[in-house]
Amino acid sequence: MKVKEQLLTLKPYIPGKTTDEVKREYNLDKIVKLASNENPYGCSPNVLQSITTKIPSFAIYPDGAATELREKVAEYLGVDGDQLIFSSGLDELIQYLIRALLSPETNTVMAKETFPQYRHHAIIENAELREVPLKDGRHDLEEMANQIDDRTKIVWICNPNNPTGTYVNQLELEGFLSKVPNHVLVVLDEAYFEYATNDDYPNTIPLLNKYENLLIMRTFSKAFGLAGFRIGYGIGAPSLIKQLEVARLPFNTSALAQTAAIAALDDKDFVENTVAVNAKELVKYYQFFDEHQISYYPSQGNFVFINISGLSSNEIFQRLLEKGWIVRAFPNGVRITIGKEEENEELMKIIAEIASVKLS
Ligand SMILES: *Cc1c(COP(=O)(O)O)cnc(C)c1O
Repeated sequence: MKVKEQLLTLKPYIPGKTTDEVKREYNLDKIVKLASNENPYGCSPNVLQSITTKIPSFAIYPDGAATELREKVAEYLGVDGDQLIFSSGLDELIQYLIRALLSPETNTVMAKETFPQYRHHAIIENAELREVPLKDGRHDLEEMANQIDDRTKIVWICNPNNPTGTYVNQLELEGFLSKVPNHVLVVLDEAYFEYATNDDYPNTIPLLNKYENLLIMRTFSKAFGLAGFRIGYGIGAPSLIKQLEVARLPFNTSALAQTAAIAALDDKDFVENTVAVNAKELVKYYQFFDEHQISYYPSQGNFVFINISGLSSNEIFQRLLEKGWIVRAFPNGVRITIGKEEENEELMKIIAEIASVKLS
């Protein structure tokens, strides 16, 4: 027995070390994990209230059409219910999109340093990858447009980009969309949509009226704090959604996840507060980085990508880990999830130490 050849070149997803593992390994009392861009404030109290009072029957399959959640999200966004597809997190929607569109005769265009699942599943389908390096940490839309040809099926724009936190603005996005031919699906991954506060961060829902080849992805995992429930969705033209629905598993989102997401949408204050505190904490980080000559990209997400000159990203990662701080290392830097105020203050002190002793 042998799996497809291309699977042999890939590795299963390796989650960061668990806090217990790190505790034991380095003999530490306290571990802080700022590695997966989860909400440090948890989720709305509405969620617990709702899932403990509206307990679904566990012996019954969930509503595969997610009818109630669909109505709720449609109203929340001001779109029609048939413009939505729900998934067990965006990870699953990415898989559906790739399964539905990519094959060995096709190619897909994406940034080189971006969310890794686009690449991973494209390889499984044996599609050709066209990865365009970021330019100053940002999507190089001009080069991405150049890479599109007759065989291109999907272009991915992660906005803001994970791991850099940089973003494509409204003008840049519209300029790009106007250049992309109709046979190409443009996927906008807006996993951090709620966190983006800049005025020129794109307002993309109205663009759906103009571009039928656009699909927007949003999730409950980040600002809404429901990563453990696994629920996200895509927004697109009804004709596109209808075709994608064929690739969706019949009962892909659980009854509890649907209930939790509905409750989370009702608590606007929770998300607003999460976003406001995150923006404030980001500014404090920027000031700190400027003072210590640590390079970073200004971020529209709940994370920041940094570099300390004289240290490799693995060295930064390792020194933080030894002190009980788990972040995420990439080839060109480390990504730190914005934590609670106390956590951020403590982490800044440790980064300052690391940065000042780097040459010793
Ligand atoms: C976290 C993340 C996702 C996946 O989120 P789900 O938990 O699967 O909904 C998708 N895209 C980006 C850019 C992310 O950071």
